[in-house]
Amino acid sequence: MSQMTPSLRYQRILLKLSGEALGSRQGYGIDGETVRRIAAEVKRVHDLGVQVAMVVGGGNIWRGADAAATGMDRATADYMGMLATVMNSLAMQDAMEKLGMVTRVQTAIEMPPVAEPFIRRRAVRHLEKGRVVILAAGSGNPFFTTDTAAALRAVELMLKFCSKRPK
Ligand code: UDP
Repeated sequence: MSQMTPSLRYQRILLKLSGEALGSRQGYGIDGETVRRIAAEVKRVHDLGVQVAMVVGGGNIWRGADAAATGMDRATADYMGMLATVMNSLAMQDAMEKLGMVTRVQTAIEMPPVAEPFIRRRAVRHLEKGRVVILAAGSGNPFFTTDTAAALRAVELMLKFCSKRPK
């Protein structure tokens, strides 16, 4: 069933979550307590009836540019960074589902046993059904970042929501 709450200023949002936000105080690794806190915050927004998509970064685990600076092939390093975003996305999914939310992880790099591939129309359908869509693996392309991927996915998933509602 399509979820629409007319009183909401924003019917659908895309949240960009930096990997560092999921890390411990030092910003590294995945801190379970932090992930659970963020999941609870997202749930509060989702419970208002807002459709929520998320793009999750990977900088708490791996950044391609840093590895390339030490001599690694940049494209290889970037693919590793995209895989890091998948780990973070799965951690977010786990925490949100523990709170009773229904979620789907979609990845820009296909890995069928782990998550759905990113299919725009399917992502929209999930959102309409009230599922939180967690978008992993950035844009699927090296030499980009998850900020770019967030902008791309926002346009893909949100465009018709961008015009201002009449007052
Ligand atoms: N990345 C990439 N293409 C993308 C998105 C990400 O190659 O479309 C790689 C890149 O190496 C990047 C890493 O994944 O450094 C982690 O993403 P990002 O640095 O954007 O994470 P954040 O800063 O949001 O934690």
